Amino acid sequence: MVKAVRIQHTGGPEVMEYVDVPIGEPGPGEVRVRHHACGLNYIDVYFRTGLYAQPLPAGLGMEAAGVVEAVGSGVGHLRVGDRVAYAGRPVGAYAEARIMPADNIVRLPDSISFDTAAAMMLQGLTVQYLFHRTFPLRGGETILFHAAAGGVGLIACQWARAIGVTMIGTVGSDAKAELAKAHGCAHVINYNTENFVQRVREITGGKGVPVVYDSIGRDTFTGSLDCLSPMGMMVSFGSASGPVPAFSLNELASRGSLFITRPSLMNYTAKREDLEQMAAQLFAMVESGKVKIDIRQRYPLSEVQQAHRDLEARKTTGSTLLIP
Ligand code: NDP
Repeated sequence: MVKAVRIQHTGGPEVMEYVDVPIGEPGPGEVRVRHHACGLNYIDVYFRTGLYAQPLPAGLGMEAAGVVEAVGSGVGHLRVGDRVAYAGRPVGAYAEARIMPADNIVRLPDSISFDTAAAMMLQGLTVQYLFHRTFPLRGGETILFHAAAGGVGLIACQWARAIGVTMIGTVGSDAKAELAKAHGCAHVINYNTENFVQRVREITGGKGVPVVYDSIGRDTFTGSLDCLSPMGMMVSFGSASGPVPAFSLNELASRGSLFITRPSLMNYTAKREDLEQMAAQLFAMVESGKVKIDIRQRYPLSEVQQAHRDLEARKTTGSTLLIP
């Protein structure tokens, strides 16, 4: 048996129970990983509330780092004792240990600690694909990135600076604005006190930006479209404020033949070679010192309810760990 978080039904943080669950041996193509640290991500809230559906009862959590302690048949690239990490499905990372498909797991370089890995796999791989695949950035461009002081956000600030991209970031408080700036965000807008569309127009001399990375959803969607230059790309990759309401495609034409995409990390890492290449680039970025993974909150896994409350109340910044 291991301790793990389970939900019997969807709802508020109180639906998460810290319980004993059976674990067993890995089957073909699987490994058992003993977790040293688990990552907290906003997507966990979507699964807990039911915005993203899954059969119940269910686990939660999509990211962890630890040591392989048992290997099923047919697994070539992992051995007992390997230091590893993963981000993605199947859901159920909030646990002391679990069984995972080996194909979803990468080995960690010695230079990357368990804590760093558990804090960055999901958020860092996300920045990698957003910046290099969804809308491949070129040095010299100016971009708009919402929630710049969050987990994905603080990595994006540093990554943008590292590749010579000028990032305009939005945040919900002046303290978060300072934090984003300190991580390399060139211009920071407090969208609770300033009109971010107007500010983006001012900063870009009226031109707008070629791409907006929007993980806020309902509250920012229309404003984000208004920040784009003609033929610009709206990357709607999350909905922290609620899902984007239905809209007319004419909204894209009237603003200058805009493009829109709703990407998910799971699609970008579905092919093993893509996952390996993305992870290698993330590890290299962190090893170079250009991106530092800022773990700003830690909770015992048993206090996962409080961690979710703080995340949803916008009290957290940077990355957050749950320690089994
Ligand atoms: P964050 O640490 O960024 O936390 C979410 C932040 O969103 C808050 O801190 C808050 O920052 C902002 N926010 C704005 N409005 C609200 C609201 N109404 N309620 C709560 N928060 C709000 O989370 P993550 O780094 O884990 O994830 C960031 C986003 O990226 C999420 O939306 C997530 O779903 C998405 N994501 C998408 C992926 C994909 O592949 N599609 C992969 C990974 C993440 P502030 O106070 O500054 O406004």
